[in-house]
Amino acid sequence: MGINYVYPDYEVIRNIDRCIACRVCERQCANEVHHYDKELGKMTADESKCVNCHRCVSLCPTRALKIVKTDHTFKPNANWTGETINEVYRQAGTGGVLLSSMGNPKNYPIYWDKILINASQVTNPPIDPLREPMETRTFLGKKPLDIKRNADGCFDTNLPPQLELSVPIMFSAMSLGSISYNAHKSLAVAAEKLGIFYNTGEGGLHEDFYQYGKNTIVQIASGRFGVHKGYLNTGAAFEIKMGQGAKPGIGGHLPGTKIVGDISRTRMIPEGADAISPAPHHDIYSIEDLRQLVFSLKEATDYKKPVIVKIAAVHNVAAIASGIARSGADIISIDGYRGGTGAAPTRIRDSVGIPIELALASVDERLRQEGIRGNVSIVVGGSIRNSADIVKAIALGADAVYIGTSALLALGCHLCRSCHDGKCNWGIATQRPDLVKRLNPEIGAERLVNLVHAWEHEIKEMLGGMGINSIEALKGNRLMLRGIGLNQKELEILGIKHAGE
Ligand code: SF4
Ligand code: SF4
Repeated sequence: MGINYVYPDYEVIRNIDRCIACRVCERQCANEVHHYDKELGKMTADESKCVNCHRCVSLCPTRALKIVKTDHTFKPNANWTGETINEVYRQAGTGGVLLSSMGNPKNYPIYWDKILINASQVTNPPIDPLREPMETRTFLGKKPLDIKRNADGCFDTNLPPQLELSVPIMFSAMSLGSISYNAHKSLAVAAEKLGIFYNTGEGGLHEDFYQYGKNTIVQIASGRFGVHKGYLNTGAAFEIKMGQGAKPGIGGHLPGTKIVGDISRTRMIPEGADAISPAPHHDIYSIEDLRQLVFSLKEATDYKKPVIVKIAAVHNVAAIASGIARSGADIISIDGYRGGTGAAPTRIRDSVGIPIELALASVDERLRQEGIRGNVSIVVGGSIRNSADIVKAIALGADAVYIGTSALLALGCHLCRSCHDGKCNWGIATQRPDLVKRLNPEIGAERLVNLVHAWEHEIKEMLGGMGINSIEALKGNRLMLRGIGLNQKELEILGIKHAGE
């Protein structure tokens, strides 16, 4: 071995006129990049360990630091980029699978940015959300085919269980274990304050969070970690995880080193044991099997809670969704290929799955064609970055969205994509007590509430601009969208016209 073939991705630039050698950067960096050299009497840096998380840059009291992408480069080659060459070097050195975190960063089309939203002008005038009521409440669940009234004119329809959201936004599944106790608490507290839902992910539910049960979606994944009667009865809804956008078709693996204390107890597995979620659920090999699990969960909880089935957006997603809509599930959640993760094989994350925008449009269209759109609500996730993405998703046919990465950004994540190392300097994707305490859950919850309130305000302005006064009236209203720079096939799948038409 001997030679280290990989040149560091980043360079630490320290302004020596500004640096006062306070050693804050040394104390703050869990990757041990910075060191004070007593002999030289100055700070030094080991750049090979830097993941560009910005913790040192943000906390340096004299703004003496910046991290830059190295301009050290290989001979230009459009086919063999520096990144590709370094990946081969790494694998040749370790013999292992490359691991990554967060969502697919590749330069694939971002369809949200090729879709534009309409606005009213002369006729059907805009509505001013500051002066007129604007309804953002959303109900998720199976909708009845018709409304019946009894002889007294009272409502007489047996309405299946619904989730009521103040805005069509939920926090997506992130397990305790992949994120910290304080990150989990921030999400739970914010969901309660906002009147929306957060999702346990596959790690079970810590006993401290049972108090947030009415705002909690409890997940049942293939490993069935932490699933028991109390867990099922505490959640407001269940989510059966069949797939995840960041790693469709494969299972999960939380290393035994992270299965300690609370994580081990909550997952109901021994300390130090690897938490391995198999790729399939070992009792689900058909829609009929899925139906059995859906109804077992309903039976266990008196048919009072909706069941969500989560799938990754893959090639034949519309047909899969059609099966799920007939399985008794109340809600389908679809996770696009840019969806985040605590850890995934890089090659899978970057090469498997399809964009959420195309998956959503084709699922909504297929369910409408088959006359079963009312059987299920559709929730989409996988890189919802702002309020405009939400408006576009709803107009394409979604009932609500899941946000994960943007929620973590609100908590302070700097998208360094190193969650799998467990050394998150922002206290989010880590179980190290000294790092976890860097995230104050009260402040975290407040920032999440601020983010959702800001987006709610913008959603209302966009709705008002279109002359629409409720989310319900926007749902599947593709006439409100136009494509820009898209080819005919893409427009056809999205079911929208080109700008100018
Ligand atoms: S935090 Fe800033 S001022 Fe303090 S030692 Fe590091 S670079 Fe120097
Ligand atoms: S959660 Fe932490 S480790 Fe993960 S990308 Fe964000 S800052 Fe980096």
